[in-house]
Amino acid sequence: MFNIILFGPPGSGKGTQSQNLISKYGLKHLSTGDLLRNEISRQTPLGLEARHFIDIGQLVPDEVVIGMISSALETNPEANGFLFDGFPRTEAQAEALDKLLELKKTSIAVMLALDVSEEELVKRLLHRGQSSGRSDDTNENIIRSRIVEYENKTKSVADYYARFNKVVHIKGEGSVDEIFETLCHEIDKRKV
Ligand code: ADP
Repeated sequence: MFNIILFGPPGSGKGTQSQNLISKYGLKHLSTGDLLRNEISRQTPLGLEARHFIDIGQLVPDEVVIGMISSALETNPEANGFLFDGFPRTEAQAEALDKLLELKKTSIAVMLALDVSEEELVKRLLHRGQSSGRSDDTNENIIRSRIVEYENKTKSVADYYARFNKVVHIKGEGSVDEIFETLCHEIDKRKV
């Protein structure tokens, strides 16, 4: 099994690059944002709870997303690796993920962290909001709150993985193809 975390602030390009990476490497894509939006559209109790936080640009509680990832791992026993996108977003989530993977006798191979400036993030998210139908992308105040949540709660997750020498920082500005090439180069160095 080869498991990757694609890390970075909202709007750093994780979703776009995930699509390219899963098709090249045959990984199962686990995006907590997508999983949450799916729960919201089906109006499940989990979705109804999560919606409140997402609408104001805050993180959904750890136990909710950890439970969701745990069942996603259970329902994909055949996967030959996972690409985690938007998870883990707190240290508690990172610790929980390590434990879940340990139970499956596997671990995170590498965290690929996309670095993008704040002004570029806001610009991209507002642009995405014009077509994505995502309400959290249309309001600049909500976007700024998501970036503040990232700075306060998520950014330090990279330090957690750096302790195990698993983090690679990649410039997330440039063309999609250029960034994809750099990501692949880092993966290929580690994949046996
Ligand atoms: P983006 O990275 O563009 O902000 P996502 O689609 O990854 O968007 O997530 C959208 C929202 O869903 C986040 O702003 C947050 O409220 C919630 N969310 C997603 N993943 C997590 C997570 N791992 N922990 C807590 N909240 C999450």
